[in-house]
Amino acid sequence: MADGPLFPVIDGNYRMDAEPRVGIGVVLERDRKRAISLRIPQEDYRLRAGEDTASTPLAPGDYTIRRMDSHFTVEAEGACEPIKIDKAAPVTIVAPERVRAARSGDGVLVRDLVAGRGFHWAKTIDQTLTGDLEFHAPAGSESVVVVDRLPIEEYLTGVITGEMSGECPIEFMKAQAIAARSWLLGQPRSPHPGQPFHWCNDDCCQRYQGTGGWSERAVQAIAECRGQVLVTAARRYCDARYSKSTGGISEDATLVWNENIDGLVSRIDAPKGSAAERFFPVTDENIEEYLVGDWLKDCDCYASPSVVPEDSITRYLGRVDEAGTYFRWTVTRTQDELCESLHDRANIGDLLEVRDLRTGRRGKSGRVCELFVDYLATNGSKKTATLKSEYDIRAGLSTKFLYSSCIVIRAKRNDAGKLLSVDLVGGGWGHGAGLCQIGGLGRALSGQAAEEILMAYYTDVTLERIYE
Ligand SMILES: [Zn+2]
Repeated sequence: MADGPLFPVIDGNYRMDAEPRVGIGVVLERDRKRAISLRIPQEDYRLRAGEDTASTPLAPGDYTIRRMDSHFTVEAEGACEPIKIDKAAPVTIVAPERVRAARSGDGVLVRDLVAGRGFHWAKTIDQTLTGDLEFHAPAGSESVVVVDRLPIEEYLTGVITGEMSGECPIEFMKAQAIAARSWLLGQPRSPHPGQPFHWCNDDCCQRYQGTGGWSERAVQAIAECRGQVLVTAARRYCDARYSKSTGGISEDATLVWNENIDGLVSRIDAPKGSAAERFFPVTDENIEEYLVGDWLKDCDCYASPSVVPEDSITRYLGRVDEAGTYFRWTVTRTQDELCESLHDRANIGDLLEVRDLRTGRRGKSGRVCELFVDYLATNGSKKTATLKSEYDIRAGLSTKFLYSSCIVIRAKRNDAGKLLSVDLVGGGWGHGAGLCQIGGLGRALSGQAAEEILMAYYTDVTLERIYE
């Protein structure tokens, strides 16, 4: 498959004749699945093998699709006699044309799909998927790869109800959908080169969980913003990345990814005149006050609990998110836990004992992009390792991925000065650049419209409709 711009802009023209279709990887090689269990919900689904144009009907019921070398077997369960069909890869379950999902739970039920790969919220969930389902048998592995091919607007309905819940206010869902659509169209290349899909269904790309979380409001939100994208001043699709919570101030893309991304610059996520303004930018000098100061009692930041109460947040979060305090939090890590995560996830192979953790450069949101780990090495020497991105820091400080790198570190030592544990006092969840999902929710709850929400997080962009 050729890599490269999937949705190129030709001579500054964004217009498309029709709604594009997308291929989303829902089972990846790394999931190491050799069989997929699923349920066909109704008549008119068909099975197509390899390059055949002919297809055979699949009766409603439960099936297991199992990889056998480069072939698949399709076993029907619950029938009087189990049917086994040997088929060459890829095998496709073709959805009937009239299954254009309209309700939660429509589509083929696929069991035990992985969500949150590698993050602290990783789990497996059943999902209902409406597109054509393609089963691949990649060479060099024994795993099954499954791709869901469907129209982008249907995909986006699954994104906005996977990233957050279908209970969110409609203006927030429209803002989230426009950001998600812009992000997808704006990617210069697939994050998964060499795979039979361009995007995966998880946080590495965008969280897509089929129709399970659909609501009438989500369907309406998608219809109302159909085909709308953010376009930058340089007339490109905005690479509209987003994260759960800025913590009050959003981050520059350059700090997070070491590259400029048009539209993604640090902004204060609070009304004009807010006390948050005096923390812009967050520095080593003011971060303690920013994270735990008295000003938080009357905090008017849109992502703060005073705007989005913590007891209501579970209603608005995605199905696989864990409820918690995302605006401000403290995580304690013992010496042993630090050794484990820094050894395994930050690749400090000769780590024997952590002596100190020191923060280096910070972005305007307070996120650290440089962390010095002073340690005693297995050969008895004293060494310092440097973690050089907010991602590596979040990975290295927790086996389940730290919420964010906007932290101060409080060390606890014994009388001999040995480091026993650290309290990581932090704010926000995610990289913090672009749309803040909880802040955007707070803005919608405060009466802001989708366009106003988007303009608060993306700079120098315009909203345009590229297909009807
Ligand atoms: Zn991905």
